[in-house]
Amino acid sequence: MKKSKDMSFDTKVIHAGEPDPKIEGAVSIPIFQSSTFEYAGQTDYNELKYIRLNNTPNHIALHEKLAALEGAEKALVTSSGMSAITTVLLTFLKSGDHLLAHHTLYGGTADYVKHDLPKYGIEVDFFDAGDPGDWASMVKPNTKVIYVETITNPLIDVLALDAVVALAKDHNLISMIDNTFASPVLFSPIPFGFDISLHSATKYLNGHTDIVAGAIVGNDPHMSEITKKLNHLGGSLDPHACFLMHRGMKTLSLRMERQCENAMAIAQFLDDHPNVIQVNYPGLESSPNHDRAKEFLCGFGAMISFEVEGGIDEADAVMGRLQYPICTASLGGVESLVTRPVQTSHSLLSDAELAEAGISKSLIRYSVGIESADDLIADLKQALDG
Ligand SMILES: *Cc1c(COP(=O)(O)O)cnc(C)c1O
Repeated sequence: MKKSKDMSFDTKVIHAGEPDPKIEGAVSIPIFQSSTFEYAGQTDYNELKYIRLNNTPNHIALHEKLAALEGAEKALVTSSGMSAITTVLLTFLKSGDHLLAHHTLYGGTADYVKHDLPKYGIEVDFFDAGDPGDWASMVKPNTKVIYVETITNPLIDVLALDAVVALAKDHNLISMIDNTFASPVLFSPIPFGFDISLHSATKYLNGHTDIVAGAIVGNDPHMSEITKKLNHLGGSLDPHACFLMHRGMKTLSLRMERQCENAMAIAQFLDDHPNVIQVNYPGLESSPNHDRAKEFLCGFGAMISFEVEGGIDEADAVMGRLQYPICTASLGGVESLVTRPVQTSHSLLSDAELAEAGISKSLIRYSVGIESADDLIADLKQALDG
């Protein structure tokens, strides 16, 4: 078998990390439903074979596949995206440290860094997308970590990611990026210069809306430190969920390709519709994020947000008339999903925090699935035309 570094991305999703030789010849890796494995003379606690230590054959295959996909030395799967995020923050931050984070973050992350970290004596400041030249003035002597998302939720912005990496290198900060919305298909944070890439694998990596899982990707020595912390905090992924995630990931490239194509067609349709007052999608040439997305990403993603004429009532009416997208939180599945973020992912934010982040209460977020673009557009047309 060729080494994964010689494979193209589309080949890696199928072949990287697969057991070699195949276990009993099984083409699809079996589920190792065993909490513990026979002692084999290990001298390090973290090397004992045990599900909580994330090192069954199901975990190892996933770790190798994920690391290969993002061009990193190592990867870890976790019990959820939030488990990945909290574990990594707690690995590198301690009482007295300072975290610099972008001001629009996934709702759960935003709430955690704002309300939980300060209880451990960790200071947090938020920077806006504005002028990257201003970010350096926010770095303090105790700043340890800078935290961003590749494509932000729910405004679908793409930051000056090169400036984030440069700032981290200049000030010796650990840079972390939540790469969920881009998926490894669109962006490889580690070769780009980030220290740690994080995923809610619940979304695109698994892609089938049937498990909750997370992933952490990076190089050593960071990954060894994170592994020890994860082994203590206990956010391990169950082998059956590993199996489902592994199966889901095999179609990651195909799904993303179709989802990005569909999203572009839908964004253009929305942009031209008279009842739509704002469309946030970096694929539109008119988007303030277009040039950055083109420079940094291998595609524009499949998340769109938009606002209709008529405020919250009309937004709810449009969502109620949509036939295909299912109205729910979450995203990145094969089926289209739609939500008003202030009701779901961002419901923990106060009015002042929403205003500061520029998130309108009538904003609709559309996670584009793999259905026919023509059907999705016809459906949006009937919903918008009322
Ligand atoms: C969903 C999501 C998370 C949290 O992931 P869970 O798997 O629900 O714990 C974190 N970041 C982003 C960008 C997400 O979309």
